[in-house]
Amino acid sequence: MTSPQTRSVEDAVRTILPGVRADLEALVRIPSVSATSPEQVHRSAAAVVELLRSAGLDDVRVLSSARPDGSPGMPAVVGRRPAPAGAPTVLLYAHHDVQPPGTPEGWASPAFEPTERDGRLFARGAADDKAGVLVHVGALRALLPTWGPDEGVGVVVFVEGEEEVGSPSFSAFLAEHREALAGGSGSAGPDVVVVADSDNWSVDTPSLTTSLRGLVDATVTVRTLDHAVHSGMYGGPALDATTALVRLLDRLRDDDGAIAVPGLRPTDGPEPTGLPEVTEERFRADAGVLDGVALLGSGPLAQRLWHRAALTVIGVDVTPIEKASNTLAPSARARLSLRVPPGLAPAEAFGLLRDHLLATAPLGARVEVELDESGRAFSGDVDGPVYDAARSALARAWGLASADDVVHAGVGGSIPFIAELVEAFPGATVLVTGVEDPDTRAHGHDESLSLAVFERALFAEALLLDSLSPER
Ligand SMILES: [Zn+2]
Repeated sequence: MTSPQTRSVEDAVRTILPGVRADLEALVRIPSVSATSPEQVHRSAAAVVELLRSAGLDDVRVLSSARPDGSPGMPAVVGRRPAPAGAPTVLLYAHHDVQPPGTPEGWASPAFEPTERDGRLFARGAADDKAGVLVHVGALRALLPTWGPDEGVGVVVFVEGEEEVGSPSFSAFLAEHREALAGGSGSAGPDVVVVADSDNWSVDTPSLTTSLRGLVDATVTVRTLDHAVHSGMYGGPALDATTALVRLLDRLRDDDGAIAVPGLRPTDGPEPTGLPEVTEERFRADAGVLDGVALLGSGPLAQRLWHRAALTVIGVDVTPIEKASNTLAPSARARLSLRVPPGLAPAEAFGLLRDHLLATAPLGARVEVELDESGRAFSGDVDGPVYDAARSALARAWGLASADDVVHAGVGGSIPFIAELVEAFPGATVLVTGVEDPDTRAHGHDESLSLAVFERALFAEALLLDSLSPER
């Protein structure tokens, strides 16, 4: 049954939608590519300030922090509505910077000219993540006029300006502007964080991104000789480092290709339940796996993709063919990328990988392993009341029969800032929502937003915020 309150939120959303759509198009026209165009990112920050003010937030500021190398970080926009007594504070995250557009020929219509075709809005940033910005703005425009000063929830809107370059100043920003993000002085932090920057299962089925793998990048160096020597003079008894490296890398896997590192094998770790089915056909087609090439590991694909480790050789330093001579190479290196399952700390995963590499050094070769980079995994508290409220709101907004039809999807990649947010505000429940769908092509040519998904996402967020209000 639809309650009168749900109906009034729906009516309010319907009223504000045309204006929100126009504002999305205007924001998309600003080519705020954080990798190349800082001045445009400053322009989009100024536009976001106006949008947050128009949504009814009085306290709106542009804030930034320095990056680790000392250069200035891109501007973020933070807007705030203080929490009424006894009400929770919700932090709403999105980002206003975008990826570079790529080549103009790749686009059917200009990258920064929003163009509607078949119910989709095409442009760079139309989905990732300017639609996320406008979902927050739209939900507040719909709700704030219906809440009295002592009603509703506290809100902090945090619109970042450098997500697409890896959020380099994020740690410093969290430290320096913690009070602003926490919702004011004395606040322990937000109770709920909504990150509107992810995917949906399909245009008809919403999903919550409930897990993300972490990341460890490491470099392994193998040495077998004190210096390079002639293969004719010394080859036979002496071992070259390239061969030793190849043998070492081979020992990372079983005969069927699955990771052989104890603690990181496909059979290590808990068996997650309730995962949606990813069919082999869909996976092979999406990944472009050639016919006849085997898939690695065993068990459900969703488990292998989201809850198990993955190991990839992403670079090697060996003698290139054009420089090949009759020489035994004294050393060789490989860069390894390890995706870390939720529940395992990056430092622990690195330790498992390093120990295995050292223990399996072939033929006495000297092996060194260095950690280059790491990021934490994430897994959401899907059994708590906030997830219940989110599933109900999504089901209502998308017209699903049951809240159980909302898909809990994992993502195999990492979003390091989410792990940092979890660390900064350990008391908050983090919900990862989004406006994307499998046809969005975020970061690619012809990125597009399903306008139906956009409306449902906005309606769902308004319902969620309203349902988190104590008086509901
Ligand atoms: Zn994004």
